[in-house]
Amino acid sequence: MKLSGAGIAALVGGVWPGTATASEGQDADLVVFNGKVYTVDSQAPKVEAFAVKTGRFTNVGNTAEIKALIGKGTQTIDAKQMSIVPGFIDCHNHAPGNVLLYEVIVGNPFVVEFVTIESIIDKLRSKTLQTPPRTWVEGFFFDDTKVKDDRLLNIHDLDRVSKDHPVVVHHRGGHTSFYNSKAFELADINKNTPNPPGGTYDRDSSGELNGRVTDLARTSFNKVGRRPTFTAEQTLQRNREGLAYISKQFVRYGVTSVHHEGGDLFALQQVRARGDLLHRVSYEADNKVLEAMIAAGMETGFGDEWIRFGATSEHTVDGSFSERTMALSTPYPGVTPSYKGNVTETQDDLNTWIERMHRAGIQVNCHANGDVAIDMVLTAVERAQKQFPRADSRPKITHCTLVNDDLVRRIKAAGAVPAPFTSYAYYNSDKFKYYGEEMMKHCMAYRSFLDAGIMAAAGSDFSPGPFDPRMAIQGMVTRTGWDGKTWGANQRISVEEALRVNTINGAYNSHEEAIKGSITPGKLADFVVMSDDLFTVDKEKIKDLQIVRTVVGGNTVYEATSFPTRHAPRVVRRTLAGRAFTSQVALVCAISAESSARMWRCRFRSTLTTCRRCSQNMWHGSMSWAPSPLCPGPLARQRISYSSST
Ligand SMILES: [Zn+2]
Ligand SMILES: [Zn+2]
Repeated sequence: MKLSGAGIAALVGGVWPGTATASEGQDADLVVFNGKVYTVDSQAPKVEAFAVKTGRFTNVGNTAEIKALIGKGTQTIDAKQMSIVPGFIDCHNHAPGNVLLYEVIVGNPFVVEFVTIESIIDKLRSKTLQTPPRTWVEGFFFDDTKVKDDRLLNIHDLDRVSKDHPVVVHHRGGHTSFYNSKAFELADINKNTPNPPGGTYDRDSSGELNGRVTDLARTSFNKVGRRPTFTAEQTLQRNREGLAYISKQFVRYGVTSVHHEGGDLFALQQVRARGDLLHRVSYEADNKVLEAMIAAGMETGFGDEWIRFGATSEHTVDGSFSERTMALSTPYPGVTPSYKGNVTETQDDLNTWIERMHRAGIQVNCHANGDVAIDMVLTAVERAQKQFPRADSRPKITHCTLVNDDLVRRIKAAGAVPAPFTSYAYYNSDKFKYYGEEMMKHCMAYRSFLDAGIMAAAGSDFSPGPFDPRMAIQGMVTRTGWDGKTWGANQRISVEEALRVNTINGAYNSHEEAIKGSITPGKLADFVVMSDDLFTVDKEKIKDLQIVRTVVGGNTVYEATSFPTRHAPRVVRRTLAGRAFTSQVALVCAISAESSARMWRCRFRSTLTTCRRCSQNMWHGSMSWAPSPLCPGPLARQRISYSSST
């Protein structure tokens, strides 16, 4: 059977072409050979080579077969026995590029790193120097269990930042924030103010406000104090830069498709038009965009293979797992007074919202962590599906963290698609003690979902969780955290299953399994080359596999410049500020060697580390930073001392 590129594209989900055959005499655009290619396609699960034409896979097979497709204009890649998998798909991500670029970052967004409360205070203090009084000073990416001081940030710490500015530090989980006295004063909240529905102003043992505010109680601060203002053009530019920036970060980690929680749709299209969108977007609309979709009669699926309307943005029903505010049917172990978390919406309101989306042909997507919230979502979904039957609606349950047998049965019956946390099993193991082993056996329940035939996908929830798929796969497979502790081992899944969760199941989550999620002729040529074999490497080292190359639509969008874990650092000579010096430096970052020289210098020690600001990996000893166009902001000029996790 001879097939043209277009003919093969039409075969999506259909007949396997069988043998590798030159397509109508047309040369392939790209041929990759001599690899260990894990296709995630049961018809040919492991091959050596594949060909790409006009952005799609056309043939898979052994090296000799595929090499026959090489013509004059064909780009070739010798994979040198490295492993190749389909591009990773992240089904829940807030894509906060502009936060990373422009805000004060008080924790490490990408890897496990402990910080001191003093460092947080210092960073915020520097920010107050550029901020007029009564204007908010904000910190982001705080993680309460990644603090060397081993205690919660509190109101007194933040009062040390400023008495004239309202100061807030946001937990990376997105459901709790820590405020100083000035902020409480402006919001007119004191120790006697009652908690509002769906949130709390936390108190210390003597009944005084301790600074921590949870979920809906934080809205009290929205309208007080001044905030920096930007013109429409400035906002658009910041959003563009933020999206372009985070797109680079995604592909550095091999992530080729991301479900974006809202964001500036206009900026996103401009980034694409400028050629700076390196990953594909399933755009999950909220607020005005969602209303506009409904008004215009635009259903889920509208768009193209780069930017497509997916489900709604996560519609929040309860609190957070990482910040311990999710709605549980039993009280949080060891918490007094007894606390069962926050439900942030009534069942009636949820029923109305889900019915409205469902009827509009839009895939619903609810944030539900606790068993109480998941039950509420399923109740509303079952009601909508019964009253307005619509085939294959795939209601999405983001997080879907704590389940039981009955909830799993109902999820399957409703055809719902959960997107549980991915990196938490590794990254957040230090928080599992707050739930205990009995509950953790039922949290992020990938084993239970897959056994029930549910298409569970990966939802990193970045900012709350790192989005690195290697960290995600390692955690799913081992259920062992960075601290060496294992929780809920009954939920372990195999490497093969974890790969499916992070690829084809993600495609299914947005109704795109016919065009992506596996290395199958006809599908989009999105794939990742990794330094070692995902399937044979020590399971505790999966997170250290190097992403060597990321390809989207047949185009390389990221390529590592060296292999840090396998090669000794090379000795290079650099000139910086007119001074030549020699160091052992090996860069594995997206930026070129030339720009790296402008970006940093170091007295070497052969340790791999990651810049908390731009996530560039680098070899490092003690490092003083020089300004970089890719790594702007105050942090770039700070002296940072790291210990590496690699
Ligand atoms: Zn959420
Ligand atoms: Zn989220």
